[in-house]
Amino acid sequence: MRHPDTVQEIVIVGAGLAGLIQARSLQQCGFAPVLVDPRPEAALRLSNADTRSTALTPRAVELLGLPEDWLRAHGQRIEEKVVDGGLSPALDPAQALRLESGAWVIFNRDLTGFLLDDMTLDGAFGNAVTDSRIEDGKRVLVLDNQQTLAARLVIAADGKDSLLRRREDIASFPRDFRQTALTGRIEHAQPHQGRAFQRFLPGGTVALLPLADDPRASSFIWVEPTGKASGLFSLPPAVLASRLHARFGDALGAFTAPGDAPAWGQFPLRAHHCETIVGARLTLIGEAAHSMHPLAGQGLNMTVKDAASLAAVLADQRRNGLDLGDAQGLQTYQRDRRAETARFTALTTGLHDVLDRGPAPLRALAAGGLQLINRLPPVKSLLRREANR
Ligand SMILES: Cc1cc2nc3c(=O)[nH]c(=O)nc-3n(C[C@H](O)[C@H](O)[C@H](O)COP(=O)(O)OP(=O)(O)OC[C@H]3O[C@@H](n4cnc5c(N)ncnc54)[C@H](O)[C@@H]3O)c2cc1C
Repeated sequence: MRHPDTVQEIVIVGAGLAGLIQARSLQQCGFAPVLVDPRPEAALRLSNADTRSTALTPRAVELLGLPEDWLRAHGQRIEEKVVDGGLSPALDPAQALRLESGAWVIFNRDLTGFLLDDMTLDGAFGNAVTDSRIEDGKRVLVLDNQQTLAARLVIAADGKDSLLRRREDIASFPRDFRQTALTGRIEHAQPHQGRAFQRFLPGGTVALLPLADDPRASSFIWVEPTGKASGLFSLPPAVLASRLHARFGDALGAFTAPGDAPAWGQFPLRAHHCETIVGARLTLIGEAAHSMHPLAGQGLNMTVKDAASLAAVLADQRRNGLDLGDAQGLQTYQRDRRAETARFTALTTGLHDVLDRGPAPLRALAAGGLQLINRLPPVKSLLRREANR
Protein backbone atom coordinates (compact mmCIF):
# COMPACT_ATOMS: atom_id res chain seq x y z
CA MET A 1 0.00 0.00 0.00
CA ARG A 2 1.12 3.52 -0.70
CA HIS A 3 2.37 5.75 2.09
CA PRO A 4 -0.71 7.49 3.51
CA ASP A 5 0.94 10.94 3.24
CA THR A 6 1.69 10.63 -0.48
CA VAL A 7 -0.66 12.70 -2.63
CA GLN A 8 -1.26 11.15 -6.04
CA GLU A 9 -1.82 13.32 -9.09
CA ILE A 10 -4.83 11.33 -10.31
CA VAL A 11 -6.80 8.45 -8.84
CA ILE A 12 -9.42 6.68 -10.97
CA VAL A 13 -12.12 4.90 -9.01
CA GLY A 14 -13.42 1.89 -10.97
CA ALA A 15 -11.47 -0.37 -13.33
CA GLY A 16 -14.33 -1.30 -15.65
CA LEU A 17 -13.97 -0.37 -19.30
CA ALA A 18 -14.37 3.35 -18.56
CA GLY A 19 -11.67 3.35 -15.87
CA LEU A 20 -9.22 1.30 -17.97
CA ILE A 21 -9.77 3.42 -21.09
CA GLN A 22 -9.22 6.56 -19.05
CA ALA A 23 -6.10 5.19 -17.32
CA ARG A 24 -4.53 4.20 -20.64
CA SER A 25 -5.27 7.53 -22.31
CA LEU A 26 -3.78 9.40 -19.33
CA GLN A 27 -0.68 7.22 -19.42
CA GLN A 28 -0.30 8.05 -23.10
CA CYS A 29 -0.25 11.72 -22.06
CA GLY A 30 2.51 11.05 -19.52
CA PHE A 31 0.42 10.78 -16.33
CA ALA A 32 0.68 7.90 -13.85
CA PRO A 33 -2.90 7.39 -12.65
CA VAL A 34 -3.70 5.03 -9.79
CA LEU A 35 -6.77 2.78 -10.14
CA VAL A 36 -9.01 1.48 -7.35
CA ASP A 37 -11.48 -1.40 -7.77
CA PRO A 38 -13.07 -3.93 -5.42
CA ARG A 39 -12.07 -6.78 -7.73
CA PRO A 40 -8.65 -8.36 -7.20
CA GLU A 41 -6.18 -7.57 -9.98
CA ALA A 42 -6.37 -11.10 -11.45
CA ALA A 43 -10.14 -10.77 -11.82
CA LEU A 44 -9.99 -7.64 -13.97
CA ARG A 45 -8.98 -9.66 -17.02
CA LEU A 46 -11.37 -12.52 -16.34
CA SER A 47 -14.43 -10.48 -17.11
CA ASN A 48 -16.14 -13.57 -18.49
CA ALA A 49 -19.14 -12.40 -16.59
CA ASP A 50 -19.35 -9.62 -19.19
CA THR A 51 -20.97 -11.45 -22.06
CA ARG A 52 -21.46 -8.33 -24.14
CA SER A 53 -19.93 -7.18 -27.37
CA THR A 54 -19.69 -3.54 -28.28
CA ALA A 55 -20.08 -2.01 -31.71
CA LEU A 56 -17.32 0.59 -31.64
CA THR A 57 -17.83 3.46 -34.07
CA PRO A 58 -14.97 4.43 -36.40
CA ARG A 59 -14.43 7.54 -34.24
CA ALA A 60 -14.11 5.44 -31.06
CA VAL A 61 -11.68 3.07 -32.82
CA GLU A 62 -9.61 6.07 -33.88
CA LEU A 63 -9.63 7.65 -30.40
CA LEU A 64 -8.65 4.34 -28.81
CA GLY A 65 -5.87 3.93 -31.38
CA LEU A 66 -6.72 0.24 -31.87
CA PRO A 67 -4.03 -1.21 -34.16
CA GLU A 68 -5.25 -2.48 -37.53
CA ASP A 69 -3.82 -6.00 -37.01
CA TRP A 70 -5.45 -6.30 -33.56
CA LEU A 71 -8.77 -5.13 -34.98
CA ARG A 72 -8.61 -7.65 -37.82
CA ALA A 73 -7.73 -10.46 -35.36
CA HIS A 74 -10.40 -9.65 -32.75
CA GLY A 75 -13.04 -7.53 -34.44
CA GLN A 76 -15.68 -7.93 -37.08
CA ARG A 77 -16.37 -4.91 -39.27
CA ILE A 78 -20.08 -4.29 -39.73
CA GLU A 79 -20.56 -4.09 -43.48
CA GLU A 80 -24.26 -3.33 -43.29
CA LYS A 81 -26.88 -2.73 -40.65
CA VAL A 82 -30.29 -4.26 -41.42
CA VAL A 83 -33.06 -2.61 -39.41
CA ASP A 84 -36.82 -3.11 -39.25
CA GLY A 85 -39.71 -1.64 -37.30
CA GLY A 86 -40.91 -5.02 -36.12
CA LEU A 87 -44.52 -4.97 -37.18
CA SER A 88 -44.23 -8.12 -39.25
CA PRO A 89 -43.70 -11.42 -37.41
CA ALA A 90 -40.20 -11.96 -38.83
CA LEU A 91 -37.44 -9.73 -40.11
CA ASP A 92 -37.34 -9.72 -43.90
CA PRO A 93 -34.01 -8.28 -45.14
CA ALA A 94 -35.59 -7.45 -48.51
CA GLN A 95 -38.11 -5.14 -46.79
CA ALA A 96 -35.82 -3.74 -44.09
CA LEU A 97 -33.87 -0.51 -43.98
CA ARG A 98 -30.23 -1.09 -44.90
CA LEU A 99 -27.63 1.27 -43.48
CA GLU A 100 -23.91 1.60 -43.94
CA SER A 101 -21.98 1.22 -40.71
CA GLY A 102 -18.21 0.73 -40.60
CA ALA A 103 -18.39 0.02 -36.84
CA TRP A 104 -16.32 -2.83 -35.36
CA VAL A 105 -17.82 -5.48 -33.12
CA ILE A 106 -15.48 -6.37 -30.25
CA PHE A 107 -16.10 -8.64 -27.27
CA ASN A 108 -15.94 -6.52 -24.11
CA ARG A 109 -13.55 -9.04 -22.56
CA ASP A 110 -11.20 -8.79 -25.59
CA LEU A 111 -11.19 -5.01 -25.31
CA THR A 112 -10.47 -5.33 -21.58
CA GLY A 113 -7.56 -7.66 -22.36
CA PHE A 114 -6.17 -5.28 -24.97
CA LEU A 115 -6.29 -2.33 -22.58
CA LEU A 116 -4.59 -4.27 -19.78
CA ASP A 117 -1.84 -5.48 -22.15
CA ASP A 118 -1.27 -1.98 -23.49
CA MET A 119 -0.84 -0.16 -20.18
CA THR A 120 1.02 -0.31 -16.92
CA LEU A 121 -1.48 -1.24 -14.27
CA ASP A 122 -0.99 0.55 -10.98
CA GLY A 123 -3.62 0.47 -8.31
CA ALA A 124 -5.29 -0.67 -5.15
CA PHE A 125 -7.26 -3.74 -6.15
CA GLY A 126 -9.56 -5.77 -3.96
CA ASN A 127 -10.66 -2.55 -2.27
CA ALA A 128 -13.84 -0.50 -2.65
CA VAL A 129 -14.01 3.21 -1.89
CA THR A 130 -16.45 3.78 0.95
CA ASP A 131 -16.14 7.51 1.51
CA SER A 132 -14.60 10.64 0.10
CA ARG A 133 -13.89 14.15 1.37
CA ILE A 134 -11.96 17.31 0.50
CA GLU A 135 -9.04 18.13 2.80
CA ASP A 136 -6.25 20.72 2.37
CA GLY A 137 -6.16 20.94 -1.43
CA LYS A 138 -6.68 17.27 -2.06
CA ARG A 139 -9.46 14.72 -2.27
CA VAL A 140 -9.14 11.91 0.25
CA LEU A 141 -10.66 8.51 -0.48
CA VAL A 142 -11.42 6.07 2.32
CA LEU A 143 -11.18 2.40 1.35
CA ASP A 144 -13.06 -0.50 2.89
CA ASN A 145 -9.87 -1.66 4.63
CA GLN A 146 -9.85 1.78 6.39
CA GLN A 147 -6.77 2.93 4.50
CA THR A 148 -6.86 6.25 2.70
CA LEU A 149 -5.67 7.49 -0.66
CA ALA A 150 -5.29 11.17 -1.52
CA ALA A 151 -5.18 12.82 -4.94
CA ARG A 152 -5.23 16.22 -6.61
CA LEU A 153 -7.98 14.88 -8.84
CA VAL A 154 -10.27 11.87 -8.54
CA ILE A 155 -11.98 10.49 -11.63
CA ALA A 156 -15.16 8.59 -10.82
CA ALA A 157 -15.54 5.64 -13.21
CA ASP A 158 -17.50 3.64 -10.64
CA GLY A 159 -20.55 2.87 -12.74
CA LYS A 160 -24.14 4.03 -12.86
CA ASP A 161 -24.65 3.80 -9.08
CA SER A 162 -21.47 5.83 -8.50
CA LEU A 163 -20.78 6.24 -4.78
CA LEU A 164 -18.57 9.26 -5.48
CA ARG A 165 -21.37 11.00 -7.36
CA ARG A 166 -23.76 10.39 -4.48
CA ARG A 167 -21.24 11.51 -1.83
CA GLU A 168 -20.72 14.74 -3.79
CA ASP A 169 -24.53 15.26 -3.89
CA ILE A 170 -24.52 15.54 -7.66
CA ALA A 171 -28.12 15.23 -8.81
CA SER A 172 -28.74 12.56 -11.39
CA PHE A 173 -31.99 12.10 -13.27
CA PRO A 174 -32.79 8.40 -13.51
CA ARG A 175 -35.19 6.47 -15.66
CA ASP A 176 -35.99 2.83 -15.05
CA PHE A 177 -37.16 1.22 -18.29
CA ARG A 178 -38.41 -1.88 -16.45
CA GLN A 179 -36.70 -3.83 -19.18
CA THR A 180 -33.80 -6.28 -19.05
CA ALA A 181 -31.32 -7.03 -21.81
CA LEU A 182 -30.36 -10.65 -22.28
CA THR A 183 -26.96 -10.94 -23.92
CA GLY A 184 -24.72 -13.67 -25.25
CA ARG A 185 -23.59 -15.60 -28.27
CA ILE A 186 -25.85 -17.44 -30.69
CA GLU A 187 -24.96 -19.70 -33.61
CA HIS A 188 -26.99 -19.63 -36.81
CA ALA A 189 -27.25 -21.85 -39.88
CA GLN A 190 -26.52 -19.08 -42.42
CA PRO A 191 -23.39 -16.87 -42.42
CA HIS A 192 -23.84 -13.30 -41.19
CA GLN A 193 -21.78 -11.78 -44.06
CA GLY A 194 -20.76 -8.93 -41.80
CA ARG A 195 -24.37 -7.84 -41.32
CA ALA A 196 -25.73 -6.53 -38.03
CA PHE A 197 -29.47 -6.81 -37.50
CA GLN A 198 -31.85 -4.86 -35.33
CA ARG A 199 -35.59 -5.28 -34.84
CA PHE A 200 -37.54 -2.57 -33.02
CA LEU A 201 -40.27 -4.72 -31.52
CA PRO A 202 -43.09 -3.74 -29.19
CA GLY A 203 -41.75 -4.57 -25.71
CA GLY A 204 -38.07 -4.33 -26.66
CA THR A 205 -35.42 -4.59 -29.36
CA VAL A 206 -33.53 -7.58 -30.66
CA ALA A 207 -30.08 -6.90 -32.08
CA LEU A 208 -27.52 -9.31 -33.53
CA LEU A 209 -23.91 -8.22 -33.98
CA PRO A 210 -21.72 -10.34 -36.29
CA LEU A 211 -18.74 -12.04 -34.63
CA ALA A 212 -15.26 -12.33 -36.09
CA ASP A 213 -14.33 -15.81 -34.93
CA ASP A 214 -17.16 -17.63 -36.70
CA PRO A 215 -19.19 -16.42 -39.69
CA ARG A 216 -22.11 -18.42 -38.30
CA ALA A 217 -22.12 -16.77 -34.86
CA SER A 218 -23.43 -13.44 -33.61
CA SER A 219 -23.63 -11.63 -30.33
CA PHE A 220 -27.22 -10.90 -29.35
CA ILE A 221 -28.87 -8.23 -27.23
CA TRP A 222 -32.47 -9.17 -26.59
CA VAL A 223 -34.52 -6.68 -24.62
CA GLU A 224 -37.82 -7.60 -22.97
CA PRO A 225 -39.89 -6.33 -20.02
CA THR A 226 -38.05 -7.48 -16.90
CA GLY A 227 -40.60 -10.09 -15.75
CA LYS A 228 -40.57 -11.78 -19.13
CA ALA A 229 -36.79 -11.55 -19.47
CA SER A 230 -36.23 -13.29 -16.10
CA GLY A 231 -38.49 -16.15 -17.20
CA LEU A 232 -36.62 -16.47 -20.49
CA PHE A 233 -33.25 -16.42 -18.76
CA SER A 234 -34.16 -19.44 -16.68
CA LEU A 235 -35.03 -21.55 -19.75
CA PRO A 236 -32.67 -24.29 -21.00
CA PRO A 237 -30.26 -22.81 -23.61
CA ALA A 238 -31.78 -24.72 -26.54
CA VAL A 239 -35.26 -23.43 -25.71
CA LEU A 240 -33.99 -19.87 -25.27
CA ALA A 241 -32.28 -20.12 -28.67
CA SER A 242 -35.50 -21.20 -30.36
CA ARG A 243 -37.47 -18.40 -28.61
CA LEU A 244 -34.92 -15.89 -29.87
CA HIS A 245 -35.28 -17.31 -33.36
CA ALA A 246 -39.05 -16.92 -33.14
CA ARG A 247 -38.62 -13.25 -32.17
CA PHE A 248 -36.04 -12.56 -34.87
CA GLY A 249 -37.11 -14.61 -37.87
CA ASP A 250 -35.33 -16.86 -40.32
CA ALA A 251 -32.98 -14.39 -42.02
CA LEU A 252 -29.98 -16.30 -40.63
CA GLY A 253 -31.58 -19.77 -40.57
CA ALA A 254 -32.06 -21.84 -37.41
CA PHE A 255 -30.44 -20.73 -34.13
CA THR A 256 -28.51 -23.00 -31.78
CA ALA A 257 -26.95 -22.32 -28.39
CA PRO A 258 -23.13 -22.71 -28.34
CA GLY A 259 -22.01 -26.24 -27.41
CA ASP A 260 -20.31 -25.42 -24.12
CA ALA A 261 -22.38 -23.90 -21.34
CA PRO A 262 -23.33 -20.54 -22.82
CA ALA A 263 -22.15 -17.53 -20.83
CA TRP A 264 -25.31 -15.51 -21.17
CA GLY A 265 -25.95 -12.41 -19.13
CA GLN A 266 -28.84 -10.20 -18.10
CA PHE A 267 -28.69 -6.44 -17.56
CA PRO A 268 -31.58 -4.42 -16.11
CA LEU A 269 -31.85 -1.23 -18.16
CA ARG A 270 -31.77 2.15 -16.46
CA ALA A 271 -30.75 5.49 -17.91
CA HIS A 272 -29.57 8.58 -16.12
CA HIS A 273 -27.85 11.86 -16.77
CA CYS A 274 -26.37 14.32 -14.30
CA GLU A 275 -26.84 18.02 -13.68
CA THR A 276 -23.05 18.35 -13.64
CA ILE A 277 -20.18 15.96 -14.39
CA VAL A 278 -17.60 17.80 -12.28
CA GLY A 279 -17.26 18.50 -8.58
CA ALA A 280 -14.55 19.59 -6.17
CA ARG A 281 -11.41 17.80 -7.40
CA LEU A 282 -13.76 15.28 -8.99
CA THR A 283 -14.91 14.40 -12.50
CA LEU A 284 -17.34 11.75 -13.65
CA ILE A 285 -16.87 9.60 -16.75
CA GLY A 286 -18.62 6.62 -18.31
CA GLU A 287 -21.71 5.24 -16.64
CA ALA A 288 -21.02 7.29 -13.51
CA ALA A 289 -21.75 10.34 -15.69
CA HIS A 290 -24.38 8.96 -18.06
CA SER A 291 -26.17 5.77 -18.83
CA MET A 292 -28.40 5.32 -21.83
CA HIS A 293 -30.71 2.73 -23.32
CA PRO A 294 -28.55 0.40 -25.44
CA LEU A 295 -30.89 0.52 -28.45
CA ALA A 296 -28.44 2.78 -30.28
CA GLY A 297 -25.30 1.10 -28.88
CA GLN A 298 -23.74 4.38 -27.83
CA GLY A 299 -22.86 4.17 -24.11
CA LEU A 300 -19.28 3.02 -24.42
CA ASN A 301 -18.67 5.03 -27.57
CA MET A 302 -19.57 8.13 -25.52
CA THR A 303 -17.22 6.98 -22.77
CA VAL A 304 -14.31 6.75 -25.19
CA LYS A 305 -14.96 10.39 -26.10
CA ASP A 306 -15.21 11.34 -22.39
CA ALA A 307 -11.81 9.78 -21.70
CA ALA A 308 -10.12 11.44 -24.69
CA SER A 309 -11.58 14.83 -23.79
CA LEU A 310 -10.57 14.63 -20.13
CA ALA A 311 -7.04 13.46 -20.95
CA ALA A 312 -6.60 16.39 -23.36
CA VAL A 313 -7.91 18.89 -20.79
CA LEU A 314 -5.61 17.56 -18.07
CA ALA A 315 -2.59 17.54 -20.38
CA ASP A 316 -3.35 21.21 -21.09
CA GLN A 317 -3.66 21.97 -17.38
CA ARG A 318 -0.26 20.51 -16.75
CA ARG A 319 1.34 22.30 -19.74
CA ASN A 320 0.02 25.55 -18.31
CA GLY A 321 1.34 24.75 -14.84
CA LEU A 322 -2.17 24.50 -13.37
CA ASP A 323 -3.40 22.29 -10.56
CA LEU A 324 -5.10 19.21 -12.08
CA GLY A 325 -8.10 19.74 -9.83
CA ASP A 326 -8.49 23.35 -10.95
CA ALA A 327 -12.20 24.04 -11.27
CA GLN A 328 -11.92 26.10 -14.45
CA GLY A 329 -10.06 23.34 -16.24
CA LEU A 330 -12.65 20.80 -15.19
CA GLN A 331 -15.38 23.09 -16.53
CA THR A 332 -13.73 22.79 -19.95
CA TYR A 333 -14.28 19.03 -19.79
CA GLN A 334 -17.86 19.58 -18.67
CA ARG A 335 -18.55 21.98 -21.58
CA ASP A 336 -17.08 19.50 -24.02
CA ARG A 337 -18.94 16.39 -22.86
CA ARG A 338 -22.07 17.05 -20.84
CA ALA A 339 -24.29 18.40 -23.62
CA GLU A 340 -23.62 15.56 -26.03
CA THR A 341 -24.12 12.80 -23.48
CA ALA A 342 -27.32 14.42 -22.11
CA ARG A 343 -28.63 14.77 -25.67
CA PHE A 344 -27.97 11.13 -26.50
CA THR A 345 -29.51 9.99 -23.23
CA ALA A 346 -32.65 12.01 -24.00
CA LEU A 347 -32.74 10.87 -27.62
CA THR A 348 -32.44 7.18 -26.80
CA THR A 349 -35.00 7.47 -23.98
CA GLY A 350 -37.41 9.32 -26.31
CA LEU A 351 -36.93 6.73 -29.01
CA HIS A 352 -37.57 3.94 -26.53
CA ASP A 353 -40.80 5.67 -25.44
CA VAL A 354 -42.10 6.09 -28.98
CA LEU A 355 -41.37 2.49 -29.84
CA ASP A 356 -42.59 1.11 -26.55
CA ARG A 357 -45.83 2.98 -26.09
CA GLY A 358 -46.19 5.30 -29.04
CA PRO A 359 -49.80 6.19 -29.81
CA ALA A 360 -51.60 3.88 -32.21
CA PRO A 361 -51.60 6.39 -35.12
CA LEU A 362 -47.83 6.67 -34.85
CA ARG A 363 -47.44 2.91 -34.76
CA ALA A 364 -49.85 2.68 -37.68
CA LEU A 365 -47.40 4.78 -39.66
CA ALA A 366 -45.08 1.90 -39.27
CA ALA A 367 -47.04 -0.49 -41.45
CA GLY A 368 -44.38 -2.77 -42.82
CA GLY A 369 -41.96 -1.55 -40.17
CA LEU A 370 -39.68 0.45 -42.41
CA GLN A 371 -41.81 3.59 -42.51
CA LEU A 372 -41.53 4.11 -38.77
CA ILE A 373 -37.81 4.42 -39.02
CA ASN A 374 -37.90 6.44 -42.20
CA ARG A 375 -40.37 8.97 -40.81
CA LEU A 376 -38.75 9.58 -37.47
CA PRO A 377 -35.72 11.81 -38.03
CA PRO A 378 -34.21 11.08 -34.60
CA VAL A 379 -34.21 7.37 -35.36
CA LYS A 380 -32.49 7.85 -38.67
CA SER A 381 -29.90 10.21 -37.30
CA LEU A 382 -29.17 7.89 -34.39
CA LEU A 383 -28.81 4.86 -36.57
CA ARG A 384 -27.03 6.38 -39.50
CA ARG A 385 -25.15 9.60 -38.94
CA GLU A 386 -24.73 9.98 -35.18
CA ALA A 387 -23.94 6.36 -34.56
CA ASN A 388 -20.97 6.51 -36.88
CA ARG A 389 -19.41 9.70 -35.60
C1 LIG B 1 -26.95 -4.73 -22.69
C2 LIG B 1 -25.99 -3.60 -22.98
C3 LIG B 1 -25.43 -3.47 -24.24
C4 LIG B 1 -24.55 -2.42 -24.51
N1 LIG B 1 -24.07 -2.28 -25.78
C5 LIG B 1 -23.28 -1.23 -26.08
C6 LIG B 1 -22.80 -1.02 -27.43
O1 LIG B 1 -23.04 -1.80 -28.36
N2 LIG B 1 -22.06 0.09 -27.67
C7 LIG B 1 -21.73 0.97 -26.68
O2 LIG B 1 -21.06 1.96 -26.96
N3 LIG B 1 -22.13 0.78 -25.39
C8 LIG B 1 -22.91 -0.29 -25.08
N4 LIG B 1 -23.35 -0.47 -23.80
C9 LIG B 1 -22.85 0.41 -22.72
C10 LIG B 1 -21.50 -0.08 -22.15
O3 LIG B 1 -21.47 -1.47 -21.99
C11 LIG B 1 -21.24 0.57 -20.82
O4 LIG B 1 -21.23 1.96 -21.00
C12 LIG B 1 -19.91 0.18 -20.20
O5 LIG B 1 -19.70 -1.18 -20.14
C13 LIG B 1 -19.93 0.70 -18.78
O6 LIG B 1 -18.66 0.89 -18.37
P1 LIG B 1 -18.26 1.64 -16.99
O7 LIG B 1 -16.83 1.27 -16.83
O8 LIG B 1 -18.65 3.07 -17.01
O9 LIG B 1 -19.15 0.99 -15.80
P2 LIG B 1 -19.04 -0.43 -15.11
O10 LIG B 1 -18.81 -1.49 -16.10
O11 LIG B 1 -20.25 -0.54 -14.25
O12 LIG B 1 -17.73 -0.37 -14.20
C14 LIG B 1 -17.71 0.26 -12.94
C15 LIG B 1 -16.49 -0.21 -12.18
O13 LIG B 1 -16.42 0.50 -10.95
C16 LIG B 1 -16.13 -0.39 -9.90
N5 LIG B 1 -16.70 0.16 -8.68
C17 LIG B 1 -18.00 0.29 -8.36
N6 LIG B 1 -18.13 0.83 -7.14
C18 LIG B 1 -16.88 1.05 -6.67
C19 LIG B 1 -16.37 1.60 -5.45
N7 LIG B 1 -17.17 2.01 -4.46
N8 LIG B 1 -15.02 1.67 -5.29
C20 LIG B 1 -14.18 1.26 -6.29
N9 LIG B 1 -14.63 0.76 -7.47
C21 LIG B 1 -15.96 0.65 -7.65
C22 LIG B 1 -16.77 -1.72 -10.33
O14 LIG B 1 -16.15 -2.81 -9.69
C23 LIG B 1 -16.52 -1.71 -11.82
O15 LIG B 1 -15.29 -2.31 -12.16
C24 LIG B 1 -24.22 -1.49 -23.49
C25 LIG B 1 -24.78 -1.63 -22.20
C26 LIG B 1 -25.66 -2.67 -21.95
C27 LIG B 1 -26.27 -2.80 -20.57
